[in-house]
Amino acid sequence: MTRDSYDVIVCGGGPGGIGAAIGAARAGAKTLLIERYGLLGGGATAMLVNPFMTFHAGGQQIIFGVLQDIIDRMKSMGGYGAPKAPHAFDPEIFKIAAEQLCLEAGVKLLYHAFLAGAQTEGDTLRSVEVATKSGILSLEASMYVDSTGDADLAAFAGAEIEKGRPEDGLSQPMTLNFRMARVDRERVPSRQEITDLYIAAKERNELDCPRENVLWFFTTEPDVIHFNTTRVIMKDATDPWEMSEAEIEARRQTWQIAQFLRREVPGFENAYLAHTAPQIGVRESRRVMGEYVLTADDCLAARKFDDCITRGSYSVDIHNPAGTGTVIKRIPPGEWYDIPFRCLIPKGFKNLLIGGRSISCTHEAHSAIRVMPIVFGIGQAAGVAAAMCAKDSLDPRQVPIRKLQEILVQQGQRLGKDWLDEA
Ligand SMILES: Cc1cc2nc3c(=O)[nH]c(=O)nc-3n(C[C@H](O)[C@H](O)[C@H](O)COP(=O)(O)OP(=O)(O)OC[C@H]3O[C@@H](n4cnc5c(N)ncnc54)[C@H](O)[C@@H]3O)c2cc1C
Repeated sequence: MTRDSYDVIVCGGGPGGIGAAIGAARAGAKTLLIERYGLLGGGATAMLVNPFMTFHAGGQQIIFGVLQDIIDRMKSMGGYGAPKAPHAFDPEIFKIAAEQLCLEAGVKLLYHAFLAGAQTEGDTLRSVEVATKSGILSLEASMYVDSTGDADLAAFAGAEIEKGRPEDGLSQPMTLNFRMARVDRERVPSRQEITDLYIAAKERNELDCPRENVLWFFTTEPDVIHFNTTRVIMKDATDPWEMSEAEIEARRQTWQIAQFLRREVPGFENAYLAHTAPQIGVRESRRVMGEYVLTADDCLAARKFDDCITRGSYSVDIHNPAGTGTVIKRIPPGEWYDIPFRCLIPKGFKNLLIGGRSISCTHEAHSAIRVMPIVFGIGQAAGVAAAMCAKDSLDPRQVPIRKLQEILVQQGQRLGKDWLDEA
């Protein structure tokens, strides 16, 4: 069953896919976004990730475009920012804002459609197959953007994939995010005091989460605290059996931690477990090898590239794939690194781009570029480039970089190049 054909098909509706679909549609492409759930947001909603990690360098904002559009829309709906949580957002408002922006841009949305296969001929993707309640649907486009986060489309197409760290292939741990409500915020102790109580409870064998501390954030609601604390190690997010085990283990940890908070931490006596994410959060899975492989050195040296399509300032941040501990290596103060367009172009394919966290980079660099603001920028660039390729029958390697950058800037992005941003 084939229906319609599109200029651009974007697979996955997380920050990358939202950026890609809006970028492509605003650049004039007939655009379809395919999403397995009945809502947009991916990490931001289905994995309940919050807040937006830094998109500033030396106090200056460095990522704009669709990211700024969604921030503005959420602000106008009362769902962005709060005292002590300037970059927190309400995930329910996010769902509505993202959908509004996609529809206003002219994106066609196909929900409840799980990408389950791809037809290729040599270096060309011919169609994608999605599993639906009515069976398998085959859909065609001139250009495809893989924004599944896990690079499902690239893997189905047979692209060159890497997973995890070089020594043993292990990826960063997964985390089920959860929220406690009815918290008496005035009485909540310091982060260190909460962690001290947590470590003491671990020493008494009341908790067995491998994470070394309690990671939590204020939210847009005054009595709700967000926890990014569970840790499930050594599971492969592309294996459904291991994902099932991960969900079960994470929920077990969640209940343990929720009980600990109520029992031991001032301010949580009357709190309750208000929300667990619909799915466990996946930090890392497949990475698609492309025309350039971004490294940790590129990030830490704040390297700039002529084919920059967005920027980042988030640190290398590796939660131990095998247990306790987190390694953080910071970018020089006030600096940023560029993401080159070549990282979005998978080797060996002429009508596929990567529009999300699975771009071509090393395990270490991935730990930096994966945060939502950067991924919005990556996705938007993939979408605009896909639209350009569809319009002029280009291989992504032939995309005139200056033109791509100009369109991104017209769409509100800023790339740190004075001649361009001030045009
Ligand atoms: C525990 C955790 C904490 C984090 N903390 C932060 C943080 O505090 N701040 C921050 O900015 N970032 C944080 N991140 C990183 C960030 O959330 C992700 O890296 C980011 O969401 C990646 O965006 P994406 O669009 O590439 O992928 P995703 O957000 O994963 O979106 C992929 C989308 O594709 C859909 N999809 C996947 N496979 C298919 C398929 N086969 N068919 C159809 N649809 C499919 C999914 O349902 C989803 O909507 C965190 C991540 C995790 C897991």
